[in-house]
Amino acid sequence: MLTPEILAALRAAVGEEWCLTSKADLMAYSYDATPLYQRLPDAVVLPRTTEEVAAVLQIAHAHRIPVFTRGAGTNLAAGTVPAGGGIVLSLNRMNRILEIDQENLTATAEAGVITAELHKAVEAVGLFYPPDPGSMTSSTLGGNVMESAGGLRGLKYGVTKDYVMGLTAVTADGRIFRAGGKNVKDVAGYDLVKLICGSEGTLCVVTEVILKLLPMPEAKRTALAVFHDMEAAARTVSRIIAARIIPCTLEFMDNGTIRAVEDYVHLGLPTDAAALLLIQQDGPASVCDADIQRIAQICREEGATRVEHASDPAEQDRLMQARRFALSALARRRPTTILEDATVPRSQIAPMVAEIQRIAQKYDLDICTFGHAGDGNLHPTCMTDERNKEEIQRVEQAFAEIFAAALELGGTITGEHGVGEAKSPYLEWKVGPVGIELMKNIKKAFDPHGILNPGKLFAGETRKRVVVRQ
Ligand SMILES: Cc1cc2nc3c(=O)[nH]c(=O)nc-3n(C[C@H](O)[C@H](O)[C@H](O)COP(=O)(O)OP(=O)(O)OC[C@H]3O[C@@H](n4cnc5c(N)ncnc54)[C@H](O)[C@@H]3O)c2cc1C
Repeated sequence: MLTPEILAALRAAVGEEWCLTSKADLMAYSYDATPLYQRLPDAVVLPRTTEEVAAVLQIAHAHRIPVFTRGAGTNLAAGTVPAGGGIVLSLNRMNRILEIDQENLTATAEAGVITAELHKAVEAVGLFYPPDPGSMTSSTLGGNVMESAGGLRGLKYGVTKDYVMGLTAVTADGRIFRAGGKNVKDVAGYDLVKLICGSEGTLCVVTEVILKLLPMPEAKRTALAVFHDMEAAARTVSRIIAARIIPCTLEFMDNGTIRAVEDYVHLGLPTDAAALLLIQQDGPASVCDADIQRIAQICREEGATRVEHASDPAEQDRLMQARRFALSALARRRPTTILEDATVPRSQIAPMVAEIQRIAQKYDLDICTFGHAGDGNLHPTCMTDERNKEEIQRVEQAFAEIFAAALELGGTITGEHGVGEAKSPYLEWKVGPVGIELMKNIKKAFDPHGILNPGKLFAGETRKRVVVRQ
């Protein structure tokens, strides 16, 4: 509980109306997009400036109050769920785009800017910001930076951390600092910008970011290929890359996902197909045309039973809808949808999908898989019901086995959604005890009293490794 004096200090820091303590407000900030996690904070504060963020952190630090920084709360790892009490620090009011610098090709924006708003602003002047997480109409730049969010264009263009050139941030004890800047080259000391990217709110609070922009690609072409054999679809992914073509998007859907999408939006998808690949290329029109023709040829050579391609924007949009509706289509099936992101080297996609199917059968669960095939970043998605405790136990066991299977195939427990609280028991499986110790030492250097996002990244106890094959 926060004392009346602490609450008064917080109100003085951000303004009376921006320090919320009503039951309804606390409920609204007690959960995020992750099913099964919810705890109330003691207060929610919504600062407007970096200086106000610093003032809030000085108060929290002096009284050792946990602070849970929050953008839009769309993360899928319980990264913003309070530990039971403490302050939720919402950056939503810091939502100004400060500059689009057309000489240096950078954008400077506050951390609470919605990702899609930045896209609109830079596209209006013919520039391009590639990171496009599926949540971009709600997610914030601060949340993207802290999760190093990816998206459909990750294969060719990389993820958020590849675009963060500089940032303004506040330390746990309330000191403001800047790292990086607009310099294309800068090797002055440790790369704090890269260290902070993906740190999930555990090291500092980011208030402003400087992002790299690119010229807008001239054209786009899209293809959709249907396979009756999962292996063939996976082989096609490898062959496209081996042919020295890096499409901007190379997405995959399994049979369960295809059926759910068709049932929902009736796009004419073949519900008996084992897998579907959605491929998009961008760049100069002549290069796009040549690449998409060659990709279509590879798909056919590998046994695709149907290849559609489109250059007209409306027709391209229709093809892309199949992938865009995947999650909403699956989410209609049961009350609770758990979306994971076990990731493997792209050569291991077929064995990984087979493992996911085997594990789903073993635990008698409804798990479908779609994802960024070009990155090996799969999204096994379980449709379940959180009210059924016995089923939820099976879901947890199944996902533990899925993470173990991904690691056995040389992959990772999360490609883009982060560790947060939900996957903290598995982090040591990936980084080992030495990795955990080094990470904890970094955390201590930034936040010696552990007030920033306590309970995230590092679990009290690591899960025992499960035996994957029997
Ligand atoms: C439908 C759906 C689709 C999605 N698609 C994708 C996808 O394609 N790719 C992908 O990578 N992810 C995806 N996600 C996950 C999520 O949207 C991303 O991780 C996104 O970057 C989170 O942004 P946010 O503003 O909601 O951050 P939040 O959820 O509010 O916070 C995320 C983490 O960052 C910290 N944080 C937030 N802002 C700050 C700040 N300013 N300073 C310090 N710490 C901060 C929080 O404490 C938390 O640990 C999806 C989620 C949903 C629900």
